[in-house]
Amino acid sequence: MSITTDKVLDSRANQVDPANIQFGKTYSDHMLVADCIDGIWQDPKIVPYGNISMSPATTFIHYGQSIFEGIKAYKNKEEEVSIFRPYDNWTRFNRSAERMAMPHVPEDIFIGGMKELVSLDRDWVPTSEGCSLYIRPFMFATDEFIGVKPAENFRFMIITSPAGAYYSKPTRIYVQKKYVRAFPGGIGFTKAAGNYGATMLPTLEIKNLNYDQILWTDAIEHKFVQEIGTMNVFFVLGNKVITPDLSEGTILAGVTRDSIIKLLKERGIIVEERPLSMQEIVDSYKKGEFREAFGAGTAAVIAPIAELFYEGETIYPASQEKWEISNWLKKELIDIRYGAVADRHHWMYKVC
Ligand SMILES: *Cc1c(COP(=O)(O)O)cnc(C)c1O
Repeated sequence: MSITTDKVLDSRANQVDPANIQFGKTYSDHMLVADCIDGIWQDPKIVPYGNISMSPATTFIHYGQSIFEGIKAYKNKEEEVSIFRPYDNWTRFNRSAERMAMPHVPEDIFIGGMKELVSLDRDWVPTSEGCSLYIRPFMFATDEFIGVKPAENFRFMIITSPAGAYYSKPTRIYVQKKYVRAFPGGIGFTKAAGNYGATMLPTLEIKNLNYDQILWTDAIEHKFVQEIGTMNVFFVLGNKVITPDLSEGTILAGVTRDSIIKLLKERGIIVEERPLSMQEIVDSYKKGEFREAFGAGTAAVIAPIAELFYEGETIYPASQEKWEISNWLKKELIDIRYGAVADRHHWMYKVC
C-alpha cells in the first residue's frame, strides 16, 4: 500500500495561538482519505484539509453506518512526537466496524496513514503540557443508494485538530433512569455515530436542570451504573476502586480506562471490574466511605465528579483535597505522555 501526498503550499500552523486553542474549531493542514470499493482498499491519499462532496443518497447519512475513534499525539521536551496507544484504538475501531457490518481497516492504512499524516503536520502538535493533537479517524458507508441494506463501499478518513489543556471542573452528575444509552445485544461497546446522536436530547434535558453529565444506568433495571456522558466511570469506595466490567457489551472499552486499571494495580491498589449498583454507592456514602468518583476518556483524561443526583437526592464524594487517586492518576498519565517518567508500558508510539 503506498500513500500519495498532495501538500499544501503554505502551512496554517503558525496562525494557531498555543495559549488560546479552541478544541475542535481548527483542523491541521492535511487529512487522509482512503476508499474501500467492493471490499478492496484503494491506496490512501493525504490531501489538503477541505470539504468533501457526495451524493445526497449516500447511505450513511440515512442509515448511520458510521464509526469513529479519538486519539491524541503529544510532543515532549525533546520535540519528539508520539501517539498514545494507537494500536488499541485500531483494534477497537475494527471491533466497531465488525458490529456495524463494515470492513476492517488494515494496519498500514490506519496506523501507517496516521503516522504519515501526523509527521507531515508535526508543527500542529502543541508543546505545552496538557496540550496535544487530537486525531479523529472515521469511516462511513458511501453507497449511493437509499434502500436499506448493508453497504458495499466505504470511506476511511483521518483529520486532526490541536487541543489545549483540558481543565475539567468537578462535574455535577444526573443519574439517568428514563433514557438508556446501551443494552445487551446493542452497540454500546462501539464508537458508532448513532450512540452519540441518541444522547443529545437526554443531555439537553439535564443541562437545562444545570447538570453537566449523565450517569447512564442499565437498560433493564436501571440499577447498575454504566458510563458518564461519553466517558468510562470509576468509583473509589473505601479502599477499592470499582468500574463496570465489559462483559455485557454495554460499556465502551476505553484506552484511558485500561491504562488507569493497569497503573492502579501496579501501585498495589485494589481494582474491581464488576457490576456496580447505585444502591452500593449510596450505602457506601451513608457509611462515609464514598471517597472519589471520576470519568475517564481521551478528551478530558480524568474528569472528577463533584456530586450525583439520584432519585431526588444528592450524594457527594469526600471533599476535593482528599481526591488522592484521581489526582495521582492525572499526574502519572501526564508524566508518561510528556516523557517526565519512563514509558515502562510502551504506550507512547513515536512517529517523528
Ligand atoms: C471514547 C469513549 C470512551 C473513552 O474511551 P478512550 O479510549 O479512553 O478515549 C468512553 N465511553 C464512550 C461512550 C466513548 O465514546
